[in-house]
Amino acid sequence: MSIPSITSKLPQVGTTIFTVMSSLATELGAVNLGQGFPDFPMNEELIKLVDKAMRQGFNQYAHMHGLQSLREVLAGKIAFLYGTSVDPATQITITPGGTYAIYTAVTTVLQPGDEVIIFQPCYDSYIPNVEINGGIPVLINLKFPEYKIDWNEVKQRITPKTRMIMLNSPHNPTGAVLSEEDIQQLRSVVKDSNIIIISDEVYEHLIFDGLLHQSMLRYPDLMERSFICFSFGKTYHCTGWKLGYCISSPELMKEFRKVHQFNCFSCHSPSQVALSTFLKSKEAYLSLGAMMQEKRDYFIGLMRDTRFEMLKSSGSYFICAKYDRISDEKDSDFAIRITKEFGVAVIPVSVFYKNETDNKVIRFCFCKKKETLEAAAEKLRLI
Ligand code: PMP
Ligand code: GLN
Repeated sequence: MSIPSITSKLPQVGTTIFTVMSSLATELGAVNLGQGFPDFPMNEELIKLVDKAMRQGFNQYAHMHGLQSLREVLAGKIAFLYGTSVDPATQITITPGGTYAIYTAVTTVLQPGDEVIIFQPCYDSYIPNVEINGGIPVLINLKFPEYKIDWNEVKQRITPKTRMIMLNSPHNPTGAVLSEEDIQQLRSVVKDSNIIIISDEVYEHLIFDGLLHQSMLRYPDLMERSFICFSFGKTYHCTGWKLGYCISSPELMKEFRKVHQFNCFSCHSPSQVALSTFLKSKEAYLSLGAMMQEKRDYFIGLMRDTRFEMLKSSGSYFICAKYDRISDEKDSDFAIRITKEFGVAVIPVSVFYKNETDNKVIRFCFCKKKETLEAAAEKLRLI
């Protein structure tokens, strides 16, 4: 009897680069500045709150939309940060992470043949999310090396089939952030259209140099056509929790929840109980940007003695660097070679492009302990 076969829905997709590089780093004992996760402990008080919630018996299914008290606290946070009123009953859904929120939103909206504008380099899940839903990615390269959006190109690439624009600020992998000018351009592009925005804001608090996070939540006209996706993992140094949330208009959220209820249905209860208390303290999230900026600056300082040319990072966990003074190898070959020969794992930026555009740039994750950054820089100086 032959083994049943299936037709792949994602024939071109392999294993994500994050898994590949982290596995290589573990195997070789390399310093891992590849995959984006902190290597320092999360907040002890938050751990205690989860422990307490479990002991108090919050171990059964939470509400399908997410724990009500958590949604209420989030609505308060949004009003405080962005001056926007969001109804916790109809506009917020807790999800198992930001990636899931994005996938669910894409699945909620797309019909086969719909076009989706995606800016490259982009987080690796976006293009497969669109393709698995029968959508057509319309890929626009951000202008190198500032990684800015070319709005003239956006206007040229809009067609009657354009259903969605995917945005990510602060941006992975480049650390670029949207400016007020970008928002004005976006407004003019989507005005009077049927275009939905997916706004990936998982790094909302990780923004530097006094810049303002241009959340869709600040702009009622944009918000009403957006699914805005967040991640507690990024905010509270617990990426392994895989907990996040999505915000939208009541009409759009109603459809999102139809997809969500037959997939994950509801998320980890004790973490939601803990977060509904912990989130009341503004300090933990208000201090994040400064803490991460210090890490960025420390890493840039350490990298001065290397031959890498650091690019600008205004937010996120990441900073990119050009290595063309060192080698003309393909970035993926270079990343693997330096992991093997010099013991530092990094991510080649070409993997964030469908056509593997290679500007000889690699991505470093600086959300690490000082010792880790020092150990990496010491090795990178030898290249
Ligand atoms: N979007 C971007 C740009 C990210 O870097 C990440 C982090 N991996 C996510 C979404 C997903 O976050 P989560 O781990 O909560 O799914
Ligand atoms: N967001 C993280 C990164 O860009 C990794 C997430 C993942 O491994 N899927 O490194």
